[in-house]
Amino acid sequence: MRYISTRGRAPELGFDAALLAGLATDGGLYVPASWPRFSGAEWATMAGLDYAALAAKIIAPYMRGSVAEPKLVAITQQAYGTFTHKAVAPLVQLDSQLWLMELFHGPTLAFKDYALQLVGLLFDHVLKARGSRITIVGATSGDTGSAAIDACKDREAVDIFILHPAGRVSDVQRRQMTTVQSNNVHNIAVQGSFDDCQNLVKAMFADARFRTDLNLSAVNSINWARIMAQIVYYAFAALRLGSEQRPVAFSVPTGNFGNVFAGYVAKQMGLPIAKFAVGSNRNDILTRYFETGSMTANDVVPTLSPSMDIQISSNFERLLFSAYNNDGAAVASLMDRFKQSGVYAVDAAAHAAIMDLFVGDRLDDVGTKATMKSVFAATGHVVDPHTVIGIHAARALKTLPGTPVIALGTAHPAKFPDAVEAAIGQRPVLPAHLADLFTRPERLTTLGNDLDQIKAYVRQNARKI
Ligand SMILES: *Cc1c(COP(=O)(O)O)cnc(C)c1O
Repeated sequence: MRYISTRGRAPELGFDAALLAGLATDGGLYVPASWPRFSGAEWATMAGLDYAALAAKIIAPYMRGSVAEPKLVAITQQAYGTFTHKAVAPLVQLDSQLWLMELFHGPTLAFKDYALQLVGLLFDHVLKARGSRITIVGATSGDTGSAAIDACKDREAVDIFILHPAGRVSDVQRRQMTTVQSNNVHNIAVQGSFDDCQNLVKAMFADARFRTDLNLSAVNSINWARIMAQIVYYAFAALRLGSEQRPVAFSVPTGNFGNVFAGYVAKQMGLPIAKFAVGSNRNDILTRYFETGSMTANDVVPTLSPSMDIQISSNFERLLFSAYNNDGAAVASLMDRFKQSGVYAVDAAAHAAIMDLFVGDRLDDVGTKATMKSVFAATGHVVDPHTVIGIHAARALKTLPGTPVIALGTAHPAKFPDAVEAAIGQRPVLPAHLADLFTRPERLTTLGNDLDQIKAYVRQNARKI
């Protein structure tokens, strides 16, 4: 498979190089040159596979020419073998039309484990084959960081630096990152917002010398391999609940647009998916875009769902590229405009194509707590403040007759105990493997929102390449 940049001015790469590169040199994001498709009959043969076996089937075409299929099967079995639920991504029914897919049975209790456990192993495999090392830098609004650190800790070929906005991630999220004692793990608390962290990471990548000296690589959702791994659970759910005759719909609590974009790819691969609902908190740039056709950045406000507290949804660029029929120049000019003015308008044809498939909704903190409470009262399920936004947004899909709606459960409620307790009056308990989290010692460094200071820290602390 060949990979091309959404801005059309970076070299085409194979899978290994796209995995290691993260962001393309023209500032764009890598996407496959074409979407692999399975026929209805081919999907039908995959319906009974377990999660790891299905994962190997779905991602094989994206890695053809890089990782051989038997090796891939071993890697997916290793990646998902440690998950604490046998089904890996179980579905629970909430009402006659609505299901919840629990994507929090990995080591750090958020859906990001489903991609990163696999990506960590792929890095290891590819780097060993090349005899090289990398420095991973990433920004996190909470859950990416812990999932990436867990996936990369103690790996010989990797140093990992994770930037998080100081004081703006939950105690559980921070401790899941800072209590990892491996020498190759570095936590940086930045005095700024998640978007500041993301901009710092982008600026490090934009510095060609720094990028080369440190062999920089990314694991945030700009990395294609993460999207690829996330396609699997959409297929897993669609095959369980749907069929060629019965499309399904998904509702996804959304920040960077990485999760829901993987659903879009699942549809391009031939799965019968009718529509996606995109749920936002008060940081609702996407919902406003769906309402107006214009993408307009605002300031970030902190909410009860911090992993969605962002105003720039990086992965939306991948959808735009597709909606503009792979016109990299058109996408580059929209992104330039956005960088300059904080606004761009999508042209009518592309916007109409997007609106065919997506609907946006939003929920503020008051609504978040009220809905957590009503879901608990109606179903007995305790859901976290991100998941509940997807459950709320599902209402737009329930008008599709005879269509099962699957809301994605993106985090375990015990990751956000204060919000859950405030909503339902009960404190969720951490699973056994994290029971002593609050007594483990922390390691982190606090730095200003200052590119030079952060680059100097990374240079000093990365092992020699
Ligand atoms: C990361 C995250 C999201 C947002 O996912 P995107 O891929 O950034 O849209 C939602 N919920 C939780 C719990 C997350 O960790």
